[in-house]
Amino acid sequence: MAEFFIDGEWAEPARGGTRQIHCPADGTLVGVVGEGTREDTGAAIAAARRAFDAGPWPSTPAGRRGDLLLRVAELLERDKDAYARAESLDTGKRLVESEYDLADVAACFRYFGKLAGQDAGRVVDAGSPDAFSRIVYEPVGVCGLITPWNYPLLQAAWKVAPALAAGNTFVLKPSELTPHTAILLMRTLTEAGLPAGVANLVLGAGPEAGAPLSEHPDVDLVSFTGGLATGRVIAANAAATVKKFALELGGKNPNVIFADADFETAVDYTLTAVFLHSGQVCSAGARLVVAEELHDRLVDEVVRRAERIRLGGPFDPDAETGPLISAAHLAKVEKYVQTAIAEGAILRTGGHRPDDERLAAGFFYAPTVLDGVRQGSHAVTEESFGPVLTVETFTDEEDAIRIANDTQYGLAGAVFTTDASRAQRVANRLRHGTVWINDYHPYLPQAEWGGFKQSGFGRELGPTGLGEYQEAKHIYQNLRPAPSGWFRAGHPSREEPMQ
Ligand code: NAD
Repeated sequence: MAEFFIDGEWAEPARGGTRQIHCPADGTLVGVVGEGTREDTGAAIAAARRAFDAGPWPSTPAGRRGDLLLRVAELLERDKDAYARAESLDTGKRLVESEYDLADVAACFRYFGKLAGQDAGRVVDAGSPDAFSRIVYEPVGVCGLITPWNYPLLQAAWKVAPALAAGNTFVLKPSELTPHTAILLMRTLTEAGLPAGVANLVLGAGPEAGAPLSEHPDVDLVSFTGGLATGRVIAANAAATVKKFALELGGKNPNVIFADADFETAVDYTLTAVFLHSGQVCSAGARLVVAEELHDRLVDEVVRRAERIRLGGPFDPDAETGPLISAAHLAKVEKYVQTAIAEGAILRTGGHRPDDERLAAGFFYAPTVLDGVRQGSHAVTEESFGPVLTVETFTDEEDAIRIANDTQYGLAGAVFTTDASRAQRVANRLRHGTVWINDYHPYLPQAEWGGFKQSGFGRELGPTGLGEYQEAKHIYQNLRPAPSGWFRAGHPSREEPMQ
């Protein structure tokens, strides 16, 4: 049970706790890992502190740090099959999706590897011939990195790669539900030549193994991706020692569709936006905000296609999407749907576990469409983080923008229209950190990924000099919109599942 990685050594949790990891698709036992306590995290923080204060990594030339990250990218590609398999077993997601994730993980390390040595700072006018003035960039120190279960390795990579590029040391605490690819990552970092103590890994539940990363005075920065309620706890804890913190929180993301949108493209992306990874995506387009005159035609077709989506486990070649992560999460989604119906939502399809023997041992939930939800209702304001689409209608452009912005969250959203001017006007006014035009979900490592409002604040890359007084918004436009074909089942001419 030595899966903890502390000061360059594999270690067991001090109190010897264990946790079983089961595949959410069929309940098979994937592995038994150590379950850490505050004591283990304290030891990992001490190692990271020593490595920062006295180790070679922070003063290693940035270009050499970058070279190591490039080597990590190569090793990830070499070992991609083992990584993808481990990710799929922990999360239950289709193997092909884990393979896509792995490619994104390698690209992330490569991107930050190339960036590491590029900017050595700048000289500023000192205002006197007898002075010299320059800006330099230094690492923050010890970073506590806390990640969720939906994209386990990718979420870790988005924190680990820039933290290392900048010369920090870190303690990673992945979700207790999906630890295996983080363990593999420690092996890869070691093989790439990272000095002892720079990368540390502890496993276990958030309030126990995770909490010290937001509380301990020796941690300089805590970077958290997860739910809003946990984010509030982390921010409050971090305040006691005035830590720097980054919070990438939830979303309740509107997908705004105008009547002039290309119909097939709009249907296709409505499905992809919300049912990809069974809705367990922070940027999932869980709120369909559709023009009144298009409502009936669009929703009928979305329902028809949603009913044909093929559910299955990671290695089922016909599956188009997989299970929810756990029994507790399944129960949460079921309750969310029941509450919505009790509040007056019209259940158009789904709302139950699939009636299929093959899926009985997994945490599957049928793709669900809730029509006629009221603004301000629980269904519209709270994340389900499951395969549940709610439908609201709008009368005109102004109404669409008002409805789309009427949420405590501000992570992502999309607008579908063939009117190019309207697309830009609406994108400009959506108060969400990422806005896609005639597309949904593309993510670029070189673009900001930050939330507005209570979605937190994430990666704000472009320095304008105005710092925290600006929100960076990424507006991405697909200039050749066409159906993505992600969910092919039910489409008359594209019945073959995507491989
Ligand atoms: P969660 O908040 O329950 O857990 C996230 C991580 O925090 C886990 O590792 C957990 O163990 C840890 N944790 C829990 N309590 C803690 C505490 N008191 N101190 C320290 N760590 C603690 O979230 P989840 O269920 O794993 O993930 C789903 C949520 O994540 C959704 O709300 C989703 O929208 C959000 N998310 C956001 C993004 C983004 O980029 N904005 C990306 C993915 C997921």
